[in-house]
Amino acid sequence: MGARIVDRAARAIAREARGLRLVVVADRRVARLVAPAVLPALARAGARPLLLTFPAGERFKTRATKDRLEDRLAARGVGRDALVLALGGGVTGDVAGFLAATWQRGVPVVQMPTSLLAMVDAALGGKTGVDLPAGKNLVGAFHPPRALWVDVALLRSLPEREYRAGLAEAVKTAAVLDRRLFETLERDAARILARDGRCVLGVVSRCLRLKARVVASDLRDEGPRAILNFGHTVAHAVEAAGGYRVRHGEAVSMGLVAEARLAQRLAGFPREASERIEALLRRFGLPVALPRGLDPRLVARLARRDKKSRAGSVHCALPSSLGRFSRPDPTVPIDLRRDLLPVLIRN
Ligand code: NAD
Repeated sequence: MGARIVDRAARAIAREARGLRLVVVADRRVARLVAPAVLPALARAGARPLLLTFPAGERFKTRATKDRLEDRLAARGVGRDALVLALGGGVTGDVAGFLAATWQRGVPVVQMPTSLLAMVDAALGGKTGVDLPAGKNLVGAFHPPRALWVDVALLRSLPEREYRAGLAEAVKTAAVLDRRLFETLERDAARILARDGRCVLGVVSRCLRLKARVVASDLRDEGPRAILNFGHTVAHAVEAAGGYRVRHGEAVSMGLVAEARLAQRLAGFPREASERIEALLRRFGLPVALPRGLDPRLVARLARRDKKSRAGSVHCALPSSLGRFSRPDPTVPIDLRRDLLPVLIRN
């Protein structure tokens, strides 16, 4: 990872792709704004990539999008000798990763994230998949990337609102894993919002290192890795309830505030820490309450579909104090009506 490392990344990816068909998957916005910096670098490095695109946005993280990409791979005669490069935000990483996981029973994927959210979180860890109308990420596969190339210079064209949405996942990582990172986010908030290069690189690399450590200890998300889902039981329910029109990072921000309050009720999480999370998210211009018009009852009902549900009871991953969680199992069973609904309504 670094800044302005596209040429170096392209040379390494071209080496990896030698003797293979390099397939670059990007949404149309990234294809327009970022691919022109990356494809020529790949060409200079000797690769001749096939670019496949799909419409941008969470609403296109679907089986239909994956189907269409597969049809195009088949039409272009791409076989098992493929290497997929996921170039884009978390949606592209998830769709292209899932495509690679199942194409001809699995081909390698390299992740090159272009949104802040994907850089600090989504591109690492091997979770891939698509959404169903019934719930987020309900179909997918674990398919860890063969390589991950993070160039923070690619953030230049990222719209402000998307940049801020990415900060929600950084706040989450800090809130559950690293109190010092949380303090850094608080202290350097203005410089981070101004996209100060050194600050951004520092935050991205710290988040990646922290996530890498947790993922390495629990590759298939059967124990401590669940803590990375703090805020996400509510976030995923908000996204499904809103027809996938609410940005993931913004839904995570709402989820962090709601679940921090749950953690206060159920996990002894200090009230002061909960207030600091909310204040930091506000500082980053992120929403801390459900959007008007979204029924908290519907959100609570959809939370039942959360993948952490066990034997009919919903479990939330909650920290025990700022930057800490209980091992080996950080999840706590919650009652949707008694525990969750009140914190959503209070929102
Ligand atoms: P996204 O991929 O839709 O990107 C957001 C928007 O920014 C899109 O319109 C995209 O075209 C645009 N964009 C991205 N990079 C750009 C750039 N450099 N310049 C201009 N525009 C750019 O969404 P996201 O917020 O990146 O990711 C959210 C998704 O990530 C969700 O589906 C979520 O479930 C998933 N996610 C996955 C994991 C995981 O472990 N697999 C973890 C966290 C989140």
